[in-house]
Amino acid sequence: MGETKYIFVTGGVASSLGKGIISSSIGKLLQARGYKVTIQKFDPYINIDPGTLNPYEHGECYVTVDGHEADLDLGHYERFLGIQTTKANNITTGRIYKSVIDKERRGDYLGKTIQIIPHITDEIKRNVKLLGNKYKFDFVITEIGGTVGDIESLPYLESIRQLKWELGRNALCVHLTYVPYLAAAGELKTKPTQHSVKELQSAGIQPDILVLRTEHHLNTNLRKKVALFCNVDEKAVVQSIDMPTIYEVPLLMQEQGLDATILEKMGLEVGPTPELGPWKEFLNRRHKATETVKIGLVGKYDLQDAYKSILEALSQAATYNDRKADIHFINSEKITEDNVEEQLEGMDGIIVCPGFGQRGIEGKIAAIRYTREHDIPTFGICLGMQCMAIEFARDVLGYKDANSKEMDEKTPHNVIDIMEEQKSITNMGGTMRLGAYECIVKKDSKAYAAYQSEHIQERHRHRYEFNNEYKEAFEQHGMQCTGINPESDLVEIVEIPSLKWFIGTQFHPEYSSTVLKPHPLFLSFVKACIHNQ
Ligand code: GLN
Repeated sequence: MGETKYIFVTGGVASSLGKGIISSSIGKLLQARGYKVTIQKFDPYINIDPGTLNPYEHGECYVTVDGHEADLDLGHYERFLGIQTTKANNITTGRIYKSVIDKERRGDYLGKTIQIIPHITDEIKRNVKLLGNKYKFDFVITEIGGTVGDIESLPYLESIRQLKWELGRNALCVHLTYVPYLAAAGELKTKPTQHSVKELQSAGIQPDILVLRTEHHLNTNLRKKVALFCNVDEKAVVQSIDMPTIYEVPLLMQEQGLDATILEKMGLEVGPTPELGPWKEFLNRRHKATETVKIGLVGKYDLQDAYKSILEALSQAATYNDRKADIHFINSEKITEDNVEEQLEGMDGIIVCPGFGQRGIEGKIAAIRYTREHDIPTFGICLGMQCMAIEFARDVLGYKDANSKEMDEKTPHNVIDIMEEQKSITNMGGTMRLGAYECIVKKDSKAYAAYQSEHIQERHRHRYEFNNEYKEAFEQHGMQCTGINPESDLVEIVEIPSLKWFIGTQFHPEYSSTVLKPHPLFLSFVKACIHNQ
């Protein structure tokens, strides 16, 4: 196609309006037209990456194949587009400053006074263009975190202003705002949108397209009014009305010609509207599925975003099993041996969630004991898998004090132990075992039945590991190690073959489940849950 085109997605009025979903939808629609597309997220906070952030602050930490701890929006990009993102797809202010300061210390700036403009903005611009220059993408979509008006966003807006000026038609700005409905007045209000656009304009950016998030339909007159007040073409004002599923949004955008408007504005031929066949098929199946499968999510964070990828992987797997996922969060801190039956009542299966630290551990172990003894499908992910091993060691192998060294440094039965190379680490950020590693799956295992392959690659994010000294004892007593890392011999999958579905994975399969390629383990787990009904 020639030169790479850059689309910036900014947001105003409020956070959590779904910039990630709009960016992903635009990406999907352009990809469906045959373009090579990637999406990147620029986060204005000072952390180097979200790896050290509490999930209550920013939701789940997503992990890319190359081992970057990233913003959860990268998960949306991968699920919608079926692409793999990397470290270069997620930049924070912390990384921008770090890189500039490192260059300054090396003397790269030859005695210049280092300033936000041009040094920080140049570094932002360099990072915006990095992927486009390196991999020849047709489109690079850059989502800017936060909302316009935040102090932290200013250098990013200034960089977009400069890039729009430098790149001309090859750069475009999509601004997402919110149109509230005042029930008492019975009216939809455009003033916040007008103000938000003014804020953007005062930074020197004229948005090319406005996406208005709303809970009620916006009529033509309202959109005309927004167009007039904000200097935007009428057809470049589109609405993003609440949908039962985020996966409807690309279709909603396509119906309003958002992709066609983008192409036109960037001087490209529009051509016929793509079919999106498999995507629509997925949505059809989702609509038709009325029966439910009830899954308990045993974890300590009572916040949806903390388990985003697991929720999405489950709901995708449910759709491909022609069911609706009915997911119940069960707070592991509240589970005890006395109330576990009541807490798990009615669940067709449970997922034992990843996590860090002692809080809620004993509840997870109590839940696992119950599902193991009652043969209820159980899927342990990372810490969940480690809890499966601890529970088994305590109850079946008879080591009452078995534990992970993370929870009890002095345990004599350290069935989960810290990795050798982790022992000397003092810096917490970016130092876990991260990213995709190879794993050999044993034939004749349930994991193999799901994957249909001996060679898999899955993403990791942890410091502790199954302790191989106990492997023989586990296997002799019925818990098999069915996935092994060929290089390090580390145990990556455990399962109890005599049970219906009882599998734990040291890795995070949820990160690689996409709309059109649901993850095999989630598919087979949900199937087992349905059989268990
Ligand atoms: N806390 C555990 C570890 O560091 C598990 C981490 C996780 O669940 N992602 O090994």
